[in-house]
This record gives sequence, C-alpha cells and structure tokens, in this order.
Amino acid sequence: MKNFKQIFKEAENAITGIAAAPGIVIAKVYLFTKEKLEINEGDITNVEEAKNNLTEALSKSKKELNKVFAIAKEKMEGKRAAIFEAQMMILDDPILLGNINSRIEKEKKQPEYIVNDEISKYQSLMALAHEAYMNDRANDIEDIKNRIIRNLQKKRWVSKIKNDMIVVSDSLTPADTILLSRCNVKGFVTDHGGLTSHAAIISRSLNIPAVVGTHNATRHIQDNDTIIIDGFHGFVFVNPNEEQIEFYNAKLEKLIGLQKSLEELKDQPAKTVDGKEIQLMANVDVTGEIDLVVTNDAKGIGLYRTEQIIEELGEIPSEDEQVKIYSNLSTRIYPKPLVIRAFDIGGDKFKFLDFTEPNPFLGLRGIRLLLENEKMFRSQIRAVLRASINKNIQFMLPMISTVREIKHSITLINECKNELKHEKINYDKDFKIGIMIEVPSAALLTYELACLVDFISIGTNDLIQYLMAVDRGNDLVSDLYQEFHPAVIRTLSHIVKEAKKAKKPVSLCGEMAADTLAIPLLVGLGLTNLSISPTTIPYAKRIIRSISYEKAKILGEDCYASATVGEVTEKLEKFFRDNSITRTRNII
Ligand code: PEP
Ligand code: MG
Repeated sequence: MKNFKQIFKEAENAITGIAAAPGIVIAKVYLFTKEKLEINEGDITNVEEAKNNLTEALSKSKKELNKVFAIAKEKMEGKRAAIFEAQMMILDDPILLGNINSRIEKEKKQPEYIVNDEISKYQSLMALAHEAYMNDRANDIEDIKNRIIRNLQKKRWVSKIKNDMIVVSDSLTPADTILLSRCNVKGFVTDHGGLTSHAAIISRSLNIPAVVGTHNATRHIQDNDTIIIDGFHGFVFVNPNEEQIEFYNAKLEKLIGLQKSLEELKDQPAKTVDGKEIQLMANVDVTGEIDLVVTNDAKGIGLYRTEQIIEELGEIPSEDEQVKIYSNLSTRIYPKPLVIRAFDIGGDKFKFLDFTEPNPFLGLRGIRLLLENEKMFRSQIRAVLRASINKNIQFMLPMISTVREIKHSITLINECKNELKHEKINYDKDFKIGIMIEVPSAALLTYELACLVDFISIGTNDLIQYLMAVDRGNDLVSDLYQEFHPAVIRTLSHIVKEAKKAKKPVSLCGEMAADTLAIPLLVGLGLTNLSISPTTIPYAKRIIRSISYEKAKILGEDCYASATVGEVTEKLEKFFRDNSITRTRNII
C-alpha cells in the first residue's frame, strides 16, 4: 500500500487546512451555505412599528440563544458554554439598544440597517486588535448581529440537517456548531477560522474531527459529495478514489483497534517492564477537558493553565468566580492533585497591556506581569488558597528567572494567608508552591531555585524556544525548534539532577512529553512524572509499558553525548526498532 506522502502528493482532490480536531472520518457532505443577508437601507415612515419589529426580533433572538445555551450547557462544561451567555448580554446592552432605537427615531432608516451599522462598529474595533483571539470574538458578534437581522427579516433558521453528515461551510458560529452537532454530525470543514475559533474548540470538546481555515473548501466541495477528513493532519479529500478510501479505511481500522487496546490499558499502571512507575498527569487548558482526565485515568492535573479562563471569558475573572472554578475542579479530581498555574499572561497569550511590546516573549510575561500587577496576582492567590480546603491544590509560578521573583511571590502568598486568617477563612495549611523551569537562566540555577519551593515542573515549550532562540509560533524558523537538540537534552538532564540534589520533586509538562518518540528518552533522563494532554495519556502509557527503564537510561546517556539532533533522532528511532515498539504517529 502507498504511504501517506504518496497518497497526498499525487492527489488532485486534496484540500489542506488547519487540523482543528483529531480523528478520521469518511462521510457525505451537507453544504451549509448561509444565505447572504441583504440589508435593506431604505427609509421608514412608521417609527413605532419599526421599533416594535426590533423588540420582537430581539426577543426572538433571545429565545433562540437561550435554546442554544441550554444545549451547550448539556453538551459542554458550563464555562465554555458561557460564550453564548456573552452573546445574550449583547442583546441586553442598554447603550447599544439605546443607540439603535434613537437612530431609528432620528434617521428614520430600516432597523436592520441601523443594527448592522451599530454592531459592525464593535466588530471593527475588535478586528483592529490584529489578534487571532479578538478576530474570533468578532466572529461571535457577527453571529448575534446576523441573528437579529434575520429575525427582523423574518427568515428561517437552519438548525436541523440530515443525520450523520459532514458539515462544510464558509464559517461556523459557535451556535451552528452546537446545534448541528445534535444531528450526529460526523465532521466539520470550514473555509475560515483558526485553532482558537470557537467552532474548533467546540469540535475538540465534542470529539468531532474538524479541519478549518481551508480558504476554498466550499468552492471545491458540493452538497452530497463524499469526503474524507483527516483531522490529525488537516487534510480533506473530495470524492476520494478507491486507493484513498482503502488507505484511510485501513487507518481507521488501526485507529479503532488501537483505541480498543488503549482502553484495555485504562486501569493498568504506567510501569516499565522492569517495574519503574511513571506518573502520567494531565494538562488542562479548559475545564471541559476534565472528563477526558477522568476517562484517561490521569494521576491528577499536572498543569491547569488558568489564563485560558481569561481567554474564554474575555476578561479577568473576579476572586469569587475563580474560587468557584478552582473549587469545582479540585472536587472533581479529588483526591488526586491539581496543579494550578498562576496566570501566564503575555507573550502570544491574552492581550493585557494597553501597549505593544517590541518583543512580547522577552517582555512582561508570566510572573513578571503578575508582580507588576499585584492586585490581580493577590486576587488569584487568595482564590487558589480559598479553594484549597480539599488539600489537593498546588500553586505553580510561570516564567521564573530569578530568586527575587520567587521570594517576592512567597511574600505575597504569606500576606494573603494572613489576610485569610484574619478574615477567618479556611485554607490548606500545607499548601505547596512550585515553579516552572522554562527559561534557561532558571534551568542553570535549578538547585538554588528548587531549594526555595516545594516542587518544580519543566515547561519544554518555552524552554526550547528560549534555549534555541526560536519563536515557538514562527513558521519561518520552525525547523530550528528542535526538541531533540543535544542542548535541550543536556539542559533537561541538568534540571533533573539538580532538582534531585535539592530533594524536590520534578515533573515535565511541555508538549515534548506527548511526543511518543521522546518518552523513552525522558524516562531515561530520570523523569518520573509527565503531564500531557489527556487524550495522549493512553498512547504514552502504552510506550512506557513496553520499554525497560535500564535500557532507557542507557539511551538517555547516549543521547546526552550526541552532538547533533540528527544523531539523537537516529538513536531514538533505533531504540523503537530494536525493541519492536510501534509509534502512534506511524499508525495514524
Ligand atoms: C511550557 O512552556 O512548556 C508550558 C507548559 O507552558 P505554556 O505552553 O503554557 O507556555
Ligand atoms: Mg510556558
């Protein structure tokens, strides 16, 4: 059978996009074309009637959104469903509605024209931010704008389609994604949208394969065509030939077989053949992933990226809101541990500053920004402490590069503890504090830093970017972002040894641990706690259960002594061949 490259290279029917939600699916297409709304800019004669029409359209929109919100809450975790709540708030925004009504009175124009004009102003402001996140939020507003206009025009709302289809569309709003998913949608393909678009986030939550940002899928795909979605690589094959169907059916069969065998591993420990147990924890970005943590038998949450809450809400949550979120998570995961990382804002994440830094990755990010914004930091510390009563919460500081940052943070934490004591609010007296090692200066100083805290966790995503001087999100230099560069391996080995010298537990929570090729190396370097995305846990477990710790140690030493990334990769691949271990990536 042909390999993947051949299948793709020779294909004239292939469309590429962003792999937004993993999985493979072959099914028929429902082309979801949204009728382009024509806006009537005409004058009106009866102002009262126009205003009544507007009120009616707003109330209908609210009813529709309430329905979407209810389904979203049923299908997804509450916080994520909150995007619909945000849309409902727009429907109640007194300033916006006041402006629209007074313009109808003054200008005597059709309400749909004024609604379009007023809401578009909001969107233009958001689009000016030039950020993927804000652009995606501008799309959410497009949804509510079109909904009101459609209701003003008394047009139909498509929310039901034939079951078991792949939906192909120009773009999808969060509401479309949720509503259509009730018809057992098999997959999503869109022309627009990125990884952070809600359609993508929702597809991942609902486990529906999706390829987004294809630019031209709707031009090449017709209603009822059969297509293949490869959500692992971001490919779509339109009316696939026999060879392609055979190729992907074989992949699907293997995938199903693999998932079955992985399910069988669920209650087995992640132990090497010679008895070394590795703790596999989960990285959680959004609380909705918690179910995956449970189903994949994670030993706890090794990294909870709290800045994602800000991403989802579009604002910094209050202390009370945070207490609720952290307490819920802590209870759900209890008695397993939950490592809450302080907001890692800055770099390419949530835009917090009202000015642009020339080098955001080297600027006010993580702990630096928190210490500059004490009020926000204190409210998070207080929230985490207040939520810690189950005694399973630990607190982790991101982007540490100096002793001073740790000491300053500990002082603030102690002050918050004192405040709570005075307020007679309970918290865990054994509350553990850790740091992330993700900056080279911190890596070199591991021993000294580790002595000041209870645990450390290595963030390879940033560590590699800063060690290699390669922006982790820049395509132009992505070939230099080398996780197997000998400098990375030597740094990891140094951190592990120094942490052990300081008698402090060390874990690794970067994406590197999710690369199955890296696992024997990481185990060989002495790491016994890996935190990875929950869906990759079974794959990692499978590798760990098929290697020998003694052999992995020798592999670690061999790689440590290598001079090039090529040599390291060769040694890792040979290790897999010699021990007859199949890697997931080869299977899929
Ligand atoms: C890391 O840098 O490896 C890490 C886990 O943090 P983030 O990816 O959130 O920067
Ligand atoms: Mg990081």
